[in-house]
Amino acid sequence: MAEIKKFESKYSIYTLESFGDKIFINRKVKETGVVSKFFYYINIDKNGNSKTRRIDEIVGKKIIGRALKDDNISSALMIVEGEKINKKKNKIIDFSNKSKEEYLFTSTGDKFFYHKKSLNSFKNNTGKTIISTHISPEGTCNLRCPYCSVAYRNSIGNRIELDIIKKYVNILKKRGLKAVILTGGGEPTLYPKINELIEFLYDKSKLELAMITNGTVLDRIFPKNRKKFRWLRVSVNLFDGWEKKINIPKEFINPKTIIGFSHIYTLEHNFGDKEINYKKILRKIIKLMDKFNVQYLRLLPNCLIKGDKFNYQHKAIDRLVSSFKDKRIFHQLKIHQRPDFKICYQSYFRPYLSEEKNPWTKKPGTVFPCDSIVLNSSVKKFLDKYAICEPERIGEYMDKKIKHKFKPPVDCEGCVFVKNNKILEYLANSSEKEFESYFKKVENKKIKHLHKNFI
Ligand code: SF4
Repeated sequence: MAEIKKFESKYSIYTLESFGDKIFINRKVKETGVVSKFFYYINIDKNGNSKTRRIDEIVGKKIIGRALKDDNISSALMIVEGEKINKKKNKIIDFSNKSKEEYLFTSTGDKFFYHKKSLNSFKNNTGKTIISTHISPEGTCNLRCPYCSVAYRNSIGNRIELDIIKKYVNILKKRGLKAVILTGGGEPTLYPKINELIEFLYDKSKLELAMITNGTVLDRIFPKNRKKFRWLRVSVNLFDGWEKKINIPKEFINPKTIIGFSHIYTLEHNFGDKEINYKKILRKIIKLMDKFNVQYLRLLPNCLIKGDKFNYQHKAIDRLVSSFKDKRIFHQLKIHQRPDFKICYQSYFRPYLSEEKNPWTKKPGTVFPCDSIVLNSSVKKFLDKYAICEPERIGEYMDKKIKHKFKPPVDCEGCVFVKNNKILEYLANSSEKEFESYFKKVENKKIKHLHKNFI
């Protein structure tokens, strides 16, 4: 193996290397030591068609040069022919055209209208706004996905003490908390006390429970605890042997639990020098869906891709989904926008407890306003400026005694919750008449939603 050239950015080391006649880009994340190899890039022609191509020396140097600018290899791996897409010829994706499956299975902002009490509390400053919360108890993960949105984190090995999670949940429970989503950070099932945590949330606290997992170590959850989830969403990541390693023990497959798959459409899966053929991959995913009685597959692009390139990934997904006539597959149309509202309203209704060390006591456990602020720069980790408080102080936050250190219009460039925040801003400042008529209007829309407490 020959090293052709080496480049360093703040978070990564990129080398262009050759192996036989193959040229590839090697990226090492400094903090975590995670190494990824990229043999292919996506070429987009002027009409917006995406094609996979092998990296050669010239293209490799170009990609690294671009990646170095903002440490964003995901965007750099997409090259637009002649640098411009003919926008007149190409209709950019219509983000309002959501499928009924997207409304049914995901959070689109519409579910707030089931929670008039919480919205009223926000208006009247009574501190009882909370509906649900995401909790990431564990920083360790058993996979090394190159496109991981927290690949640059330094929280590996961080885990929140169970007692701290309990305190946080107890405070919120008294204020009306209804549902908890266990997620990462790392892989939640690797939390050493995962069974105790499930029992505390479900049996003791009587909360609705859901989990986002990579699905490879679900057997760590005791059989008696496997039926306690309202929904389970498995992120299908591709790596050698993925079809065998993703395994959903039979107790999870029961009438009370909706099992879904989510897959990021990207070339950055961990497949060495093998090219990703998406039609073949999708057929394999469908086989797994049949095996585990999975009710939907959500496809979405890598959120770290910027600008028009991101929209053209959406287009490629559209084409892929429509070439399969399987009603279970849907394309999630998450839109990234720069907010024009002054504060993050949504954080009072569904904050995120992360395993990151908080800036005040340096202990694992930080409340952030949402689970996706990491998307607001290419720096794939949660930054202190977004940290709200230690978990034990969540009550003070709900009482609006703690102020944000960030400003959404400046710091939340890639917000995926603009629609939710705008609805909340409107309702917070509405007259009584406007407030009531909003609820009537949405009631009449009659869109079907599942899991109303998971907003
Ligand atoms: S990204 Fe959006 S939802 Fe998240 S903190 Fe910023 S404004 Fe709030």
